[in-house]
Order: sequence, then structure tokens, then C-alpha cells
Amino acid sequence: MSPKELPPSKNLVFGRTFSDHMLRIRWTEATGWQAPSIEPFATINLSPGATVLHYAQSLFEGMKAYRHDNGTVTMFRPDMNMKRMNTSAQRLALPAFDGNALLECIKELISLDRQWIPKEPGHSLYIRPTLIGTNGTLGVAPPSEALLFVITSPVGPYYPRGFKPVPLHGTTEYIRAAPGGTGAYKLAANYAPGVVAQKSAAKQGYAQNLWLHGPEHWLTEVGTMNLFAVIKDKDGITELITPPLDGMILPGVTRDSVLALARNHVSGVKRLEGLPDVIRVSERPINMGEIIQSSKEGRLIELFGTGTAAVVTPVDKIGYNGGDVIIPTGKDGMGPVSKPLWTELVGIQTGDIQSDWNYVV
Ligand code: PMP
Repeated sequence: MSPKELPPSKNLVFGRTFSDHMLRIRWTEATGWQAPSIEPFATINLSPGATVLHYAQSLFEGMKAYRHDNGTVTMFRPDMNMKRMNTSAQRLALPAFDGNALLECIKELISLDRQWIPKEPGHSLYIRPTLIGTNGTLGVAPPSEALLFVITSPVGPYYPRGFKPVPLHGTTEYIRAAPGGTGAYKLAANYAPGVVAQKSAAKQGYAQNLWLHGPEHWLTEVGTMNLFAVIKDKDGITELITPPLDGMILPGVTRDSVLALARNHVSGVKRLEGLPDVIRVSERPINMGEIIQSSKEGRLIELFGTGTAAVVTPVDKIGYNGGDVIIPTGKDGMGPVSKPLWTELVGIQTGDIQSDWNYVV
């Protein structure tokens, strides 16, 4: 296959363009993992009976490689993605794998397709490892054959023209996750049912779903992002709140990183410029009642989503019970807590700030 051209960066649309190569590793129950191979990006042949097509035996990951100004290429905390991918595999009875060995293979894939990492600031190469059950036999059972593959896609910045806060639809008519379900895993089956909910939110003029759980309307996630709220408590202390990993929340790499940076600020390991001196960092449940109450009392400071794609997404309102709860946003679209956290995170990812979170390719 002849190499394709990397389109001009300004024309990149998320997930539309793929690089020249892909990684494939087959697995069978009888032989275990076979030798990995890097091949031209091409279609996959599957039996129409393949279990992935019938029973959604499919899971995936999403992470990024960044090209620094000095030419170094790094991935951001990819060990976390490998760990989460193995946890997802276990939940689906798909085979476990050696995360370090897979990372070495991904490193080779990225090195080979290095020219596919756009050079412009804010651009990156999105990496999509995927694991599917491939045996062509109907019947719901652990797959006896599987395929792990990795494809990559050059992407531009999520907000090319500055931060744009998004309105959320407080969704109570559909759920994303439930106790004992699969919300904490990155399974393909979690995403297909969200499309109708997303369409319904869009029809009502909202950008994403705010997934609310139970009669108390606990806030869980924003579309396909983790959720953070910032509230001043009654003593005037700024509290950064995210729902706990209770089995319904995807353990996001960005979520974990935001928490770690905020906690390092609090403990003095690394103070972040602009962040209030005293903040409380809480992994605790928060419901719509508390959001509305704090909003009424002028204590709601900001609300934002976090994820690999956009890093931080500020929210400006929540459509709820027929009305809109207005969320404050800073003058450039970001609030006083998310802005310094975003600056630090992006500084690390782009190589301006040294960090052992960067894995050199
Ligand atoms: N929640 C869901 C449902 C997601 O799909 C994602 C994206 N992987 C996230 C949260 C954010 O996770 P991360 O920070 O690892 O991208």
C-alpha cells in the first residue's frame, strides 16, 4: 500500500483520518497471544458469526501522543490506559495481556507513523487500542478467539478558537450506568445506547448529556467525560468535587490527573499559579439538589468535564426539570479552578513542563 498524505492540519476532523499502519495481535484459547505485527491500515475480515458482532464483545482505549517543540514524542500516562484496558478485558471475559509489552508495540507503531503526528500546537495523534471477540460461533460465552488491534488518527485541538462552554441536558429518562453494571469499564456496549440520549439532548438545544443517577439525581458523568464541580462551602472554602469511583464512573486518566495536581497543590508538592491557596479536594457524591442550592446562594463557582479528547470542557448551564440552572464561567470561558489545572496539564502534555507522566516514544 502506498503511504497516504497527512491532510492539512486545519482540515482534521476527529477520528476521520487514519495513519498508514495498524498493529494486530491475534489470540486463541489454544495458543494464547500470537506474534504482534504492524501492517498497512486495512479492513478486518470477520466471520458474520463473530461474537463481537452479536454480543458486543468489544472494548477500547483512547490516549494521545504529542510532539514536543524539540521533536520528542511522548504519550501521556499510557500505563493507566493499559491497566484500564486489562480491567475492561476481565469484565468481558476477554484475554488479559501484558500492558508493558503492548506499550512497546504501540511505541513501534507510532515511531513508524511519526510523520502522522501533526506539528502544530495543540495537535496530537489519537491512539485507539481495541480488543474484540472474533470466534465465529453463536452462543454467549467467553470468546475462544480474539483480536487486539491499534489504529491511530491525527487530531487537532478540541477548541481551535478558545474555550466554548457547553450546555448540558440533565438526563433522567435514560441511564448510562447502574450499580453492578459496566459503567466503570470502557466497553463498546456502553456507548451505542448513549447515541439516542445524545440526539435527544441535541434536539432540545443542549450539547451533551449530564447523566443523573437515582431518584436523588446524583451527578455522574458528562457525555463521555468525567465531571467536576467547584463550590464554595458555607465557611467560604473552595471545594473541588468529583463523584467517587463507585462502579458507575469510568476511572478517567484526566480525572485522576486533575485530582493529583489539585492534591499536590494542597500539600505544597507543587503549587499552581492562580489556584486558590486553600482548596478542599473531594471524591464524594453530589446531586442536583446541592447544585441548585449552591447556585441560589451564589456559591456555585464552576462545573466542567474532563477527558482525553478536550482535556477540560467548561459547562455554562444544565437543563433540568424544564428550566435551566446557570453555571458561572470565567471571562475566557474557563473558571478559576479549571484554568490553572488545565494550564498545568497541557503544559505537561506538550512538554513545556517536565513530568514523569510523559512516556517517551
Ligand atoms: N467517561 C467516559 C464515559 C469516557 O468515555 C471517557 C473517555 N475515555 C472519560 C470519562 C474520560 O476518560 P479519560 O480521561 O481517560 O479520557
